[in-house]
Amino acid sequence: MNRDRIEQSRRAPGAWRRPVAVVLLAFGGAPALAQGPDVYALRQAAEERARAVEPQVVTWRRDIHEHPELSNREFRTAALVAGHLRSLGMEVRTEVAHTGVVATLRGGRPGPVVALRADMDALPVTEQVDLPFASRERALYNGREVGVMHACGHDNHVAILMGVADVLASVRADLPGSVKFIFQPAEEGAPEGERGGAELMLEEGAFENPRPEVIFGLHVGPGPVGRLSYRAGSTMASADWLRILVRGRQTHGAAPWSGIDPIVVASQIVLGLQTVASRQLPVTLTPSIITIGSIHGGVRGNIIPDEVEMVGTIRTFDADVRRDLHRRIRRTAEQIAASAGATAEVSITHGYPVTVNDPELTARMVPTLQRVAGDDPVVVQDLMTVAEDFSYFQQEVPGLFFFLGVTPEDQDPATAPSNHSPLFFADEQALPVGVRALTNLTLDYMTAR
Ligand SMILES: [Zn+2]
Ligand SMILES: [Zn+2]
Repeated sequence: MNRDRIEQSRRAPGAWRRPVAVVLLAFGGAPALAQGPDVYALRQAAEERARAVEPQVVTWRRDIHEHPELSNREFRTAALVAGHLRSLGMEVRTEVAHTGVVATLRGGRPGPVVALRADMDALPVTEQVDLPFASRERALYNGREVGVMHACGHDNHVAILMGVADVLASVRADLPGSVKFIFQPAEEGAPEGERGGAELMLEEGAFENPRPEVIFGLHVGPGPVGRLSYRAGSTMASADWLRILVRGRQTHGAAPWSGIDPIVVASQIVLGLQTVASRQLPVTLTPSIITIGSIHGGVRGNIIPDEVEMVGTIRTFDADVRRDLHRRIRRTAEQIAASAGATAEVSITHGYPVTVNDPELTARMVPTLQRVAGDDPVVVQDLMTVAEDFSYFQQEVPGLFFFLGVTPEDQDPATAPSNHSPLFFADEQALPVGVRALTNLTLDYMTAR
């Protein structure tokens, strides 16, 4: 299939027709094309517009990069997005989940509603990349002044989706369906005491009127520039917060038998938790991670304290395993504590669910990613233990969340500074690939029915 594709992509653009028709027939929906718009002309028009909008996408990206905004504070970015979408004649809703923007592009022909999502927020990171458009922004984050940087590359996501909006609006008359553009705040998590992100957008009606039947989104990250990758099924982990409070009884450090030592109990719990994933769960089914990242207890070497607090994170790739893991963590902590006469109070706060790419949708859309990639390979992404709140959208409708490499050619993706680093650098050459990928996924989904 791969070799075949490469041969096809080397033909003149006019020779696209045959291989594409083969793909469409495989979907079982080709007859609909007879009454629909000329899918090839539509695709061609979109490709031309995508090329024309490239410089503008770069300009937007640099502007957004230079003016990053923290989660739930994406005021300037949202205004830029909303202004652009309005200029394209769309119905625009603003202030969805604080600063989110939702707009619908209604195509000139009947067809499905496809949602496309970009996240808009930056991180409390001080940029160290030497760029003419490097960020010098500072802001208050949970009461502290911090540098602000698009260290996760969401500036690319916003600029790409603004470009896609431009392209799809330019072919609107022939578009067989509608496109819902979702510009989301606070993917990195709302500030303390606030809510935000995809979950809140859904609560505030982002998927209503019209309701999409499918959603696509992408994330930039390490990988050869322009490289597309994807994974079917579970792709990114669920991420839950863990807090364990071990209560013992204070005593002199020289006479531990007079009290109950919560430090030793906490230590046993840390080690016990490491046996949950390795000894209690079927390791060949799916990986799980329990990390304790912080332990606090005591003030001095010869006083055994009353209590110890531990905080950590729990990651896994399966909703059932996630529930099971929580149960086992509680049991392990509580019963280790009980064995010493101490108590362990376990609280688990649910974070983002597992990011699951609908297998059927993924299989259906991979040929599109391959066509967009041309001669470059489209690769299967390894499981990622980081989390992403695109997962909430995928709990509502089938979705495909894929990845776009942005590591410059002179760097090794394996060692280049990754997302969230103050040195994270995204090569702009990836931008047109992102625009073409989301555009073609939308067009192919609408036309190959
Ligand atoms: Zn991030
Ligand atoms: Zn991100």
